[in-house]
Amino acid sequence: MIMEKAKEILKKYYGYSEFRPGQTKIIESLLAGRDTMAIMPTGAGKSICFQIPAMLLPGVTIVISPLISLMKDQVDGLSDQGISATYINSTLSAAEVRQRLARISAGYCKLIYVAPERLEVESFQAALRQLNISLVAIDEAHCVSQWGHDFRPGFRNISPFIANLPLRPVIGAFTATATEEVKGDVVSLLSLKQPDVYVTGFDRPNLSFTVLRGEDKQKYILNYLKSNSRQAGIIYAATRKEVDGLYELLLKRGIAVGRYHAGLSDDERAVQQECFIYDDIRVMVATNAFGMGIDKSNVRYVIHYNMPKNMESYYQEAGRSGRDGEPGECILLFSAQDTLLQKFLIDKSVENPARKQHELRKLQQMVDYCHTPECLRQYILRYFGETVLSGECGNCGNCEEEGELIDITLDAQKVFSCVYRMKERFGVAMIADVLKGSKNKKVQQFGLDQLPTYGLMSEYTVQDLKTLVQRLVATQYLSLTEGEYPIVKLTPQAFAVLKNLAGVWQKGVKQRKMDADDGLFELLRQLRKSIAEREQVPPYLIFADSTLKEMSKYCPKDEGALRQIKGVGELKLKKYGAEFLQLIRENTDDILKPTVTEVTPKESKKEKASHLITLEQFQQGQDLEQIAHIRGLTLSTVQNHLNRCSSEGYEVDWDRLIPKQYEDLIVTVINNVGAAALRPIKEALPEEIGYAAIKAVIGKHFCQKIS
Ligand code: ADP
Ligand code: ZN
Repeated sequence: MIMEKAKEILKKYYGYSEFRPGQTKIIESLLAGRDTMAIMPTGAGKSICFQIPAMLLPGVTIVISPLISLMKDQVDGLSDQGISATYINSTLSAAEVRQRLARISAGYCKLIYVAPERLEVESFQAALRQLNISLVAIDEAHCVSQWGHDFRPGFRNISPFIANLPLRPVIGAFTATATEEVKGDVVSLLSLKQPDVYVTGFDRPNLSFTVLRGEDKQKYILNYLKSNSRQAGIIYAATRKEVDGLYELLLKRGIAVGRYHAGLSDDERAVQQECFIYDDIRVMVATNAFGMGIDKSNVRYVIHYNMPKNMESYYQEAGRSGRDGEPGECILLFSAQDTLLQKFLIDKSVENPARKQHELRKLQQMVDYCHTPECLRQYILRYFGETVLSGECGNCGNCEEEGELIDITLDAQKVFSCVYRMKERFGVAMIADVLKGSKNKKVQQFGLDQLPTYGLMSEYTVQDLKTLVQRLVATQYLSLTEGEYPIVKLTPQAFAVLKNLAGVWQKGVKQRKMDADDGLFELLRQLRKSIAEREQVPPYLIFADSTLKEMSKYCPKDEGALRQIKGVGELKLKKYGAEFLQLIRENTDDILKPTVTEVTPKESKKEKASHLITLEQFQQGQDLEQIAHIRGLTLSTVQNHLNRCSSEGYEVDWDRLIPKQYEDLIVTVINNVGAAALRPIKEALPEEIGYAAIKAVIGKHFCQKIS
């Protein structure tokens, strides 16, 4: 009943017809008055999980968020959807704060966003105590934990604040970090009372993952940006210096690029961030300081110029692509120096020895990700503690068959033999110089121009040779020593190649091109941009890319058809509908494009229907509980999926679900009481026979009888 209301709100205010896996349970739990901890990956749709309960509960919801920079956008976005919300943080004057508090007390707001540091101010706490607070939602709840990657002392104010309220509200804690340490801290430091904990699937099927090892990074990025010039993306680098260098390079090539790191002034950072969010610049080069405050849903790629320090950071940063559910590309450019750099940073920043060990272990798991030959998605999911399906995902660099293998054994042998003759005492640059036959003074000083490998690969440029050596380091034929001047050493793998016991192959790098030639989409995007400027909100808050894509595909001609497009809620329909409809009418070729009435978005979706995914997993050997858990569905839904498959003619191995000794009995009972309702069947059977077995028997013997 209440969930039907919730679904109505979802359609009316957000324009979505279905909750995503996981959202339903979290909303149900909060509405039932239970403290709830939700662990969801970035982009899975956390906000809706507390915003919809906020609208359904009496009184107000306090949203505690560390992201001051984001509050205004979030609140603007909500207002744009017709949801009353406000925020209170340090950017407001005392008078503004008083004004807002008065509006809140008068009942004008359902959601109030506050920064945790505010809770230190006693007068502010006192003002909040006057309100009827039903729910406290804590966003990025891992910030309370020292084990997390973004510890914020202000979060320690939350628990005393709640304890001082006249009536204890329900608490919802939201985070994307799932490690046991963090989970424990969130529950205890936020004083959650016997919380329901939900971990929704960490899989983001719309993201593709690729690791490229030893690539010429700059060249790769320039090429990539050339083929994807119309897409928005983030390039993460490890240090300010790297960010500045890459930024200058891209700027020189005439690319509309921004940069972001802690060395810039607050103002400059704010401007850069805004340009990116408003689609004025397409590419942002940044350190990991950038992003916690980014809600932009149409980021199409995230490239890591350097490997980050652990998988949590990587998945969170990479996960900023494709939040709108459209394809997103996550590329990690690995080089062995990245490992050394991260080790150095950990060494410098972490004192506690136990903690240091902990960080180094996590780093090793990150390095392993860069080297694993298995499916990258499976590696990620396993890392986050999910049961992993067998088989490959088909959407990561290791699963895709394309990209032919090139035999580079001969070149590799030349490099190895040169390293060997240089007595494994030099760095990458020197090796490249010797192979090239460079007249470099140092080469002569050390007498390296006397080696038989001197000039052995003079047909290459020095840069190409460096890249080749890097690649052989990244693929672990060579290794680098630690320290300021890393020295290249041979590994046992390289000796095997030298002795002709093994060959070296390299995967040809292929590049996706995401720029599509969809004229109407481009026009819609321009319209969105001009409306965004007029309304002074970021374009993605007007409509997500996915919404514009659907518009350009189905060309809705009237309000009714436009309402069916995913992401078009009532208020937005009223505010922007006419302009978009007019543009679509003016620019469509009636004959070529299908209309919404002919093809409903649902049917034409490329992705597999949900019940068929269940069947596939079942056939791969998962049991129903596992499938339900992984997909965030109820057991009963999963059972129903199988019955539906069966009635559509798919083979289902029912015997796995039916206890042999009871099969005949169940059949007899169903013959007596009919298959229309399950409860009478269950009641006529021994206690130990569950619904799963009954549904399975129906599937096997009576399938055509149920609709
Ligand atoms: P998170 O905070 O978990 O990173 P958000 O709450 O920002 O993610 O949601 C990510 C995107 O997914 C947003 O564009 C949001 O509108 C969209 N979204 C959330 N729930 C749904 C849903 N049930 N159906 C379709 N899109 C959704
Ligand atoms: Zn894969």
